[in-house]
Amino acid sequence: MKNSTPSPSDAFRDTLGVLDEDGHRLRMYPKAVDGQFYKARTIVGFTLLALLFAMPWVHINGQQFLLFNVLERKAVILGIMFFPQDLFLFALAMITFVVFVIVFSIAYGRLFCGWVCPQTVFMEMVFRRIEHWIEGDANQQRKLDNAAWTTEKIMKKTAKHTLFLLVSFLIANTFLAYLVGSKELLKLVTHSPFEHLTLFVSLLVFTGAFYIVFAKVRELVCIVACPYGRLQSVLLDNKSMVIAYDFVRGEPRGKLKKNTIAPAEAPKQGDCIDCKLCVQVCPTGIDIRNGTQLECINCTACIDACDDVMEKINKPKKLIRYDSIEGITNNKPFGFTKRMASYSVVLVLLMTLLSYFLLTRKPLDVVVMRTQGQLYQEIDSVTVSNLYNVEFVNKTPETMKVWLRVKDVPAKINWVNSQSFIQINSGEVLKTTLFIETAKKTFNKTSNKIILEVMNGDKVLTETKTTFLAPMGGK
Ligand code: SF4
Ligand code: SF4
Repeated sequence: MKNSTPSPSDAFRDTLGVLDEDGHRLRMYPKAVDGQFYKARTIVGFTLLALLFAMPWVHINGQQFLLFNVLERKAVILGIMFFPQDLFLFALAMITFVVFVIVFSIAYGRLFCGWVCPQTVFMEMVFRRIEHWIEGDANQQRKLDNAAWTTEKIMKKTAKHTLFLLVSFLIANTFLAYLVGSKELLKLVTHSPFEHLTLFVSLLVFTGAFYIVFAKVRELVCIVACPYGRLQSVLLDNKSMVIAYDFVRGEPRGKLKKNTIAPAEAPKQGDCIDCKLCVQVCPTGIDIRNGTQLECINCTACIDACDDVMEKINKPKKLIRYDSIEGITNNKPFGFTKRMASYSVVLVLLMTLLSYFLLTRKPLDVVVMRTQGQLYQEIDSVTVSNLYNVEFVNKTPETMKVWLRVKDVPAKINWVNSQSFIQINSGEVLKTTLFIETAKKTFNKTSNKIILEVMNGDKVLTETKTTFLAPMGGK
């Protein structure tokens, strides 16, 4: 049985780097880093930010490229419109996404958190940069926070928080553009806020929320609130790629000493010189040398910091690097495991299914239901009719003109509004009623299945089934 007494080396797991011994929040002052990973993350981060801010203004066939209009229950993805009628597609897409997240995390750990997550990108690329620019590096920030309120401190803090609020306002605008559409947002900008009070209040609420997240809550979002972060404990195993300290090479750690003893007699020392720079740059306040921890957001700052140290002391880089625990312990290259393969098969199946449904998705949804509580109506001694409720959903960016005909049955359709065709605007859900009229002798049974063809000009767009009630025996 496993010994349940924690070893002294595991004591770090009992505390959080962002809390003091009494459980009070400690403000993090991560040192600024520079290095190949930070440079690469800057390029990726700013590319993603450019896409995020630009996408609400990109339109395809008059539709916003990406839109998630919860209030109007409408979504546009890559210019394709989705409605509540597509709920099963949404559910399938969600399941596929969750499986993708699982497969990706099993293989690559929290790679997403460090490179793509909006929280990390905004925090490290925008807000942290503003902070370093106005208040200086970690030590200067610490000094400023501990200093009395002087004119300089008031000016610096005011400038920083004003910029934070401005950026939060910009993010809130973009967020709203994804929710209500950029055209709707433009109306708010060009008209008095009182004409769009709900939208204006939402904008202020979102601005406040983003400001609190990036100015105050910060790393606690990743450590406490983020469900993806919490999932890591069940997704990662020894073969997953994480940011890891090479303890085989680094230990026993020790301060760098001048070589006064003959190398043969000198005690064995690892490559880690215990400079603690990897800890000082960490935005979540952890020491990665203790092993993989839930708080690590894979920001790569410790890799850059340690590579810089290794370069200065003429040791090989990558003492901290992307690797699996097994890779470090057994010097094994990172590979594809059976666990990854089995989840990948499920993912491929789901993606195939989703692609099939997306490719065969009809541009027009039509539901024809016999009006409840109504039997057939005998128009005269030879003709019978049924009343139907019809719902059309136009999922295309264009207006559609359609008409209906009954397949293989000599029947006449009479629209209640007496039109011969129906016009449905883009994105419109149109409800109407119609009568289907036919000779009594057409059917022998009371309940009969009929097929309606939805026509656009001479082209059959789609078909839908319904029932037709008629007198028994066709009399
Ligand atoms: S930065 Fe590198 S050398 Fe310095 S303490 Fe961290 S692991 Fe050791
Ligand atoms: S341990 Fe390294 S990669 Fe993880 S959060 Fe800290 S600095 Fe970033």
